[in-house]
Amino acid sequence: MTVGLTMAIPASASFQVQVKPSSPQLGDTVSVTLNATGNTPSSNPSVVLNGKTYPMFPLSGNRYRALIPTIPLDQPGTRQLQVSDGTQQQSLTVQVRDRSFPTQSIWLSDDKNSIQGTDFEFDRVDAFKALVTPEKYWNGPFMRPSNGYVSTIYGVRRYYNGEFAENYYHRGVDYAAGTGSPVIAPAAGRIALVGLESQGFELHGNTVGIDHGQGVSSILIHLSRVDVKEGDMVKAGQVIGGVGSTGISTGPHLHWGLYVHAQAVDPVPWRYEGVE
Ligand SMILES: [Zn+2]
Repeated sequence: MTVGLTMAIPASASFQVQVKPSSPQLGDTVSVTLNATGNTPSSNPSVVLNGKTYPMFPLSGNRYRALIPTIPLDQPGTRQLQVSDGTQQQSLTVQVRDRSFPTQSIWLSDDKNSIQGTDFEFDRVDAFKALVTPEKYWNGPFMRPSNGYVSTIYGVRRYYNGEFAENYYHRGVDYAAGTGSPVIAPAAGRIALVGLESQGFELHGNTVGIDHGQGVSSILIHLSRVDVKEGDMVKAGQVIGGVGSTGISTGPHLHWGLYVHAQAVDPVPWRYEGVE
């Protein structure tokens, strides 16, 4: 810009915002992309929703993107987002559609009720889910992590011993497959968690956590074996372990949880349409 020339730019004109999907439903990951139309790149762009700040990371061009999780426990309806390019703000309204999830009734013996998992495993899993790495490691749609059949879909709600579990939903997808059959990385990333049943992963069993970057992570649990170690970089499709029944599990299966900013989102849109 020429020195000495002043321009009056309306507050709303320095960037454009795009929301995808335009009509999300519970479980969807909402992409909020800021397109900076001026010459100056944005600094620390972000989206604020309900007092929580979601960082925006650079995409190609002069675009920045935040990923916002929605989950079955959320209320459907209107969300007010504040999008900031670091200098100016825009207010944005997103309507999240309701969605009905199937329910299951589970009867547990006192025996199984008594196994709650260990603080050790929950602390490690919580720290893993909270990772927000600026790099983006994934590219294109995610792969199915097992060739077993889907035995439980995402979002199923439960009655335990006849009582509706308000805070429960199935936080991933289950694949039934034979013990030892391959489990692959659904997308590229860094192995940020390896937990073993023998070291206190009572509930999850043998576990691998993959950091895909920018607040997106996969957790793969109940494994029979683990073929990777923490710090390894993996490619999409790379074998990371075998299907098993370790931890609290009623038979050999893989549970894959996909997390965005520590919330378990529906992997289906990531598998089929993909998220840029
Ligand atoms: Zn599961």
